[in-house]
Amino acid sequence: MSRPITIVMYHYVRDLKRSRFPTIRGLSIERFSRQLDYIQAHYTPISIEKLVAALESGKEDLPPNAVLLTFDDGYGDHFTNVFPLLDARGIQGCFFPPAQAVLEHSVLDVNKIHFVLAAVPDAGTLLDQVFSFLAEFRSEYALKTKEAYLLSVREEHRYDTREVTVLKRLLQRELPEPVRAEIVRRLFAEHVTADEETFACELYMSVDQIACLLRHGMHIGSHGYTHAWLDRVSPEGQAVEIDRSLDFLKKLGIAEDEWTMCYPYGGFNDSLLQILRRHQCRLGFTVEARVADLDVDDRLTLPRLDTNDLPS
Ligand SMILES: [Zn+2]
Repeated sequence: MSRPITIVMYHYVRDLKRSRFPTIRGLSIERFSRQLDYIQAHYTPISIEKLVAALESGKEDLPPNAVLLTFDDGYGDHFTNVFPLLDARGIQGCFFPPAQAVLEHSVLDVNKIHFVLAAVPDAGTLLDQVFSFLAEFRSEYALKTKEAYLLSVREEHRYDTREVTVLKRLLQRELPEPVRAEIVRRLFAEHVTADEETFACELYMSVDQIACLLRHGMHIGSHGYTHAWLDRVSPEGQAVEIDRSLDFLKKLGIAEDEWTMCYPYGGFNDSLLQILRRHQCRLGFTVEARVADLDVDDRLTLPRLDTNDLPS
């Protein structure tokens, strides 16, 4: 038996041409709208409640070409641009805001890196700047040489150049946390803005906007508290991340046995899955790019396609 479901992942959806950062990697509103036309012509959008019910029954069929739409990172784009289009078409979206960014008006490091890259067209210059910063941290943190770091980033990314991939990996993962955070802070302050709080308020949805989505039938799930790579956090740290993000959902009125998890960067491991099971997490969304099958995939490690994998 097979019960396929296409789960699509979105990040920025904005009027790129008329924004302050036209080269940010996102989907224009026109393309999003066209993709919704395509989806409605070829797929059947379903709600997360329908998906959970099908999983729970163990046999209940999904409609042919079932699709579920998911939106990561809690961007204001989702309230302003996505929500009206979904609402008009009667499609449910699933939104995963990182709690800290929303509650504390701080900009996630991952987003700081996106906007630094959008502000500085030449990634090579930025990479040189990062390596020049490393000198002052080298002895304190026993940092590797530039050549060793270049070798340590082996993977290729589907949509990024080699320089951008190296830059993102160094600043998101490879360097020790305090060094990464400080370098990202400096680059963001120099190239984007020194006023992080205002930027955060423009970038992310507010609690009231998220509550509004919820009242209009949209689904809100957890995207962790700090948007950390949870597969690189200790089990104790994972428990804190989950507890704090569940507090956030609870304040929005979401019942503890109705919550879902979207792993930041797709990172999860066995200890995290145990914590999620203990808290009765309904579904977990990864970034593995393929169509999910309810009869094969674990409900806590569902794969998702990127919006770029579908026509728009
Ligand atoms: Zn994310």
